[in-house]
Amino acid sequence: EFISVGQLATALNVPSRNFDRKLKQLGFGELSHDHVLNSENAGLIAMEFNFEPVVESADDDLRAAPLPEDMSVFPQRPPVVTIMGHVDHGKTTLLDFLRKSSVAANEHGGITQHIGAFNVLLESGKSITFLDTPGHAAFLSMRQRGANVTDIVILVVAADDSVMPQTLEAIKHAKTADVPMIVAINKMDKADAAPERVKSDLARHGVEIEDIGGDTQAVYVSGKTGLGMEELEEAVVTLSEILDHRADPSSSVEGWILESSTKSNGRVATVLVRSGTLRPGDIIVAGATWARVRTLKNEAGALVEEVGPGMPAEVDGWRDQPVAGDELLQAPTEQKATEVVDLRLTKQEQLKMAEDTEAINEARRREQEKREKEERAAKGQATDQEATQSPEDKAEVQSSGPEKVYLVIKGDVSGSVEAVLNTVASLGNSEVQPEILRSGVGPISQNDIDLAAVAQGYVIAFNTTAEPGVRPLAESKSVGIIEQNIIYRLADAVKSILSDKLAPTV
Ligand code: GDP
Repeated sequence: EFISVGQLATALNVPSRNFDRKLKQLGFGELSHDHVLNSENAGLIAMEFNFEPVVESADDDLRAAPLPEDMSVFPQRPPVVTIMGHVDHGKTTLLDFLRKSSVAANEHGGITQHIGAFNVLLESGKSITFLDTPGHAAFLSMRQRGANVTDIVILVVAADDSVMPQTLEAIKHAKTADVPMIVAINKMDKADAAPERVKSDLARHGVEIEDIGGDTQAVYVSGKTGLGMEELEEAVVTLSEILDHRADPSSSVEGWILESSTKSNGRVATVLVRSGTLRPGDIIVAGATWARVRTLKNEAGALVEEVGPGMPAEVDGWRDQPVAGDELLQAPTEQKATEVVDLRLTKQEQLKMAEDTEAINEARRREQEKREKEERAAKGQATDQEATQSPEDKAEVQSSGPEKVYLVIKGDVSGSVEAVLNTVASLGNSEVQPEILRSGVGPISQNDIDLAAVAQGYVIAFNTTAEPGVRPLAESKSVGIIEQNIIYRLADAVKSILSDKLAPTV
């Protein structure tokens, strides 16, 4: 990897005069701005300016060329919309209504399946892509992984209920992410609809609606009767035109993984293309896995030949299960793809090993503490018979915190793993707490059993199975496996092992 003096100065955002002075101090003498530095020297110089050079970036050259300043040379692309709002205000109902008018459903007379996103074609010829996982968790978890997928948020507020806590939360998320909002005032068919109240409540929380002098559009809708739905779609398209959403359809492909699951035809993932056009035969990398795209399917399950910017599709051909939120990049060859994946895997392994070691040490420390506590308690009892225990001793015994039950969690898709994590996190009390050692998508591996065994914990398999050889290993290491595909039953099972932990050991 090489970089010119001029490029490095720009990359580090250092004025060229200061940059030249530093080069001389470092003994490089007078270098012209197109003098090419090797990565070692470039790294040294970067460090002088307090930058951490990242030299090993095998995937840098997978990225599309930087975008030109004038995006108008590229065609417009569909905006990507997320629906947010308070529970029961109608997010799912609105999505269902929109889904029925999806391109795929209309073309194929079919029913759209949930693949994570769908595209709606309007009469004007414009189209909108909706992410079809309502709620804030999906939006946040993508954002936490650095994926700014959403262009526009539709904030749903029920006209009969007005602004509620999760409405405020949604406003906060949209503002933090700097994503513009359109307000859909829903349930306008209801007799007690009070849209004016919604507007003034929103204004009190910093969302100024257009017709009362603000800059946020509000549309009156009903997910039940369909009232205002076209107007809502038009509002999205207009805003997208103002924001001038454009992309290069002929760059190398970039995008995100929206969802990932195992189906009868193998590992599939829904991708959302950000730039470029994805076609069967293309080689793509996401996280620590890659695919030679075998087929592309739309939300009606029909095969498509290409997927351009702003469009979602279900992709198969993955070597390993991709992870939702991961970035998607195109690779020129299989060799390049495996090279990038190998490098990422090495890094991931290193990180995971460090995490595992930490988790194991923590578990051991807890065990040790527990033993010491028991010994002290036993000693305390012995001395109790002779003299009364000192108050400090008692305090010490009580301060060692709740008991821990260690868990490794595996699930079929990232959504279900998240659901299990949320459920498990809500269990426990001041005396006993579940502690997650690791979680992930896929079947239980021998590694999962090893980890659980060290911590004397359990493995939870939600809607997934075990790799060959795992069950005997679990048995030999006395690791309990909890298999469930119903979340409340799983919660019951975890509750029962939590309370077992507290059962008197007489
Ligand atoms: P979510 O929790 O935001 O996804 O809300 P849902 O879409 O599940 O809707 C909650 C309830 O409100 C359901 O019983 C819907 O049938 C009802 N609902 C949603 N939209 C409307 C509407 O426009 N009018 C009326 N009358 N009911 C609605």
